[in-house]
Amino acid sequence: MTLMHQLITNNIQRYCACGEEIKTKKSTHCVKCLKKQNEKELKERLKKLEQVKAEDCLTKLFVPVLAGFSVLAKFFDGNAKQLIEKYKSEGKEPPWYAYPALEKRWEGLPIAEILDCEIDFIRLKPGSKVIGREELIKFVTEWNQQQKIIYYAKDRTKIVIIDQARFDQWMAEE
Ligand SMILES: [Zn+2]
Repeated sequence: MTLMHQLITNNIQRYCACGEEIKTKKSTHCVKCLKKQNEKELKERLKKLEQVKAEDCLTKLFVPVLAGFSVLAKFFDGNAKQLIEKYKSEGKEPPWYAYPALEKRWEGLPIAEILDCEIDFIRLKPGSKVIGREELIKFVTEWNQQQKIIYYAKDRTKIVIIDQARFDQWMAEE
């Protein structure tokens, strides 16, 4: 392809199936359709999850937050009742659903993987090798077992329904 040809093809306007011009490079859909597609996929995933009523969920939460084309989950340091109160006190509508936060114990450093990955990444001179691999793994494994770090992770099996009517309405939207 000549440079001139390249310049011409790069400047060709591209259109989405909906008729909208595509402004992002490489994408085959317009921003609106991308968002729609992501939302559709999200709803499909949500449909498969167990639904818990807000009053029955006493754990802390992850709240869905729209970020560009995708929906992220932001940690909320309180339960569903507290979430509703906080939003109302700020004059905002609470989200219609959230994810329960599970408490998990940190398992420590995956030392064998870290070491192997590090070594795979560099070009070793023939004859060079790691010394004390087993000792290092044993030491870090014991160190891992001493750690008492608890962290919050999104429960991927359930959603908490904060507002049933708005949730149902949103799920039914095309
Ligand atoms: Zn489109």
